[in-house]
Amino acid sequence: MSAEFGPRSRRGSVGVKVGSVQVGGGAPIVVQSMTNTDTADIEATARQIHQLAAAGSELVRITVNSEDAAAAVAPIRDRLEKLGCRVPIVGDFHYNGHTLLTKYPDCAEALAKYRINPGNVGFGRKKDSQFATMIEKAIEYSKPVRIGVNWGSLDQDLLAELMDKNAQLAEPREADEVMREALVVSAISNAEKAEEMGLSRDRIVLSCKVSGVQQLIAVYRDIAGRCDYPLHLGLTEAGMGSKGIVASSAAMGVLLQEGIGDTIRVSLTPEPDGDRSKEVVVAQELLQTMGLRSFTPLVTACPGCGRTTSTYFQKLADQIQAYVRSQMPIWRDRYEGVEDMSLAVMGCVVNGPGESKHADIGISLPGTGEAPVAPVFIDGKKAMTLRGEHIAEEFQQIVDDYVERRYSRKVS
Ligand code: SF4
Repeated sequence: MSAEFGPRSRRGSVGVKVGSVQVGGGAPIVVQSMTNTDTADIEATARQIHQLAAAGSELVRITVNSEDAAAAVAPIRDRLEKLGCRVPIVGDFHYNGHTLLTKYPDCAEALAKYRINPGNVGFGRKKDSQFATMIEKAIEYSKPVRIGVNWGSLDQDLLAELMDKNAQLAEPREADEVMREALVVSAISNAEKAEEMGLSRDRIVLSCKVSGVQQLIAVYRDIAGRCDYPLHLGLTEAGMGSKGIVASSAAMGVLLQEGIGDTIRVSLTPEPDGDRSKEVVVAQELLQTMGLRSFTPLVTACPGCGRTTSTYFQKLADQIQAYVRSQMPIWRDRYEGVEDMSLAVMGCVVNGPGESKHADIGISLPGTGEAPVAPVFIDGKKAMTLRGEHIAEEFQQIVDDYVERRYSRKVS
C-alpha cells in the first residue's frame, strides 16, 4: 500500500495482554465479537464461542449477568479447551459484577478480561465501592479490564455535573458536545481511579461507544488525543444488514485511517436465525480492505452490467470466495502468507483481462456475444483458457495448485 494513501501511523498506546492476545502497544488490530446465547446454557455458549473463534474472532465476549451465568463460565472454558479452542473469553458485567466476581472465583479466574461499564456498576453511594470491588478482583486475579462507557448508560451524575458547569459558561456548548465530553471524562477518570487502586496501566483498555457515525468519530478523536490507553472501537447498536455494515465501516474506517483503534467489534444485529459469525467476517474485511491486516484471500469481482446476460460469473465469484474462506483454517496453518493472495472474477472482456492481470489469479468470463472462453491470468500473465461445463471446478483446482506452489509450507 502506498505510503501516501495508506493509513497514518498507529497512535502509540500501552500494550495490554488479554490471555494470549496483545491489544495495543503496536500489536495488530484485534478482532473481537460477542455471543448472543444465554451464558447459563453452557453447551450453546461454548458452541457459539467456538464458531466465532473459528471464523477468526481473537477475543470473544460473553454476558455474565446472573449467578447461573457466572457459574457457567468455568465449564464453558473447560468445554472449549476440550475442543482445542483457546480463544480468550471476556466477561461483560453490569450492576452485579462485584457480587458475581466475588462469589464465583472460578468465573473470575476463567475469564481473560472483565468489561466494566462505569455507568452500570451501581447506584448512589454504592457505585464507588462496587466499582472498587471489581477492580480489586482484577488485581487479585491478574486480569485486565475494559472500562467501556456507552452513551445509552452514561453516568447520569457526571453528565448532570458537566451540564451544570456548561450552563454557567458565557458561551455554553451544544448538549451533544457536553455528552461527548462526559463519555470521555467518564472513561478516563475511571481508568485513573483504577490505577490509583493499584491496577497497572498495562491492564486497562478503554471504549466510548455511541450509535451515530459522526459522534463516534468525534468521541474517539477526542479520547485518543487525551490518553494512551489502548482503545476498543465499535459503533454500538449499529443495526441490521447493510445499514449496520455501512455505518460501522464508515465510522471505524475514518478512525482506523487516522491510526485510532487497537481492537474492533462490528456490532451487527443478526437476521433471525442468521449467522453470528458475520460480524467477525465484516470486521476482518474492514481491516483487510484498508490494508491494515490480512486474514483470508479476497476476491475482486465486477458488479456485472448489461454485457453479462447470465449470473454465472456472480456464482463463480461467490463460490470461490466461500471456497478460499473454508480452506483458510487449513491453509493458515500450512502456507505462509496465503492470506495475502488476491483473486479476480470478472464478467467480460471490457475490464476482465486488465483486472485479472492485477490479481495473483484472475479469470475473465465471457460476456454476451463473446466467444465462450474464459482466459485465466496468473501473476499478470495469461496462463490458460478454460471452456466448457467445468470452468468452476477447473478454476478452483488452479487456485489450489497456485497456493501449493507459491506459498511455502510452514514447518510444524
Ligand atoms: S467487466 Fe464487463 S461485465 Fe463486468 S461490469 Fe465491467 S463491462 Fe460489465
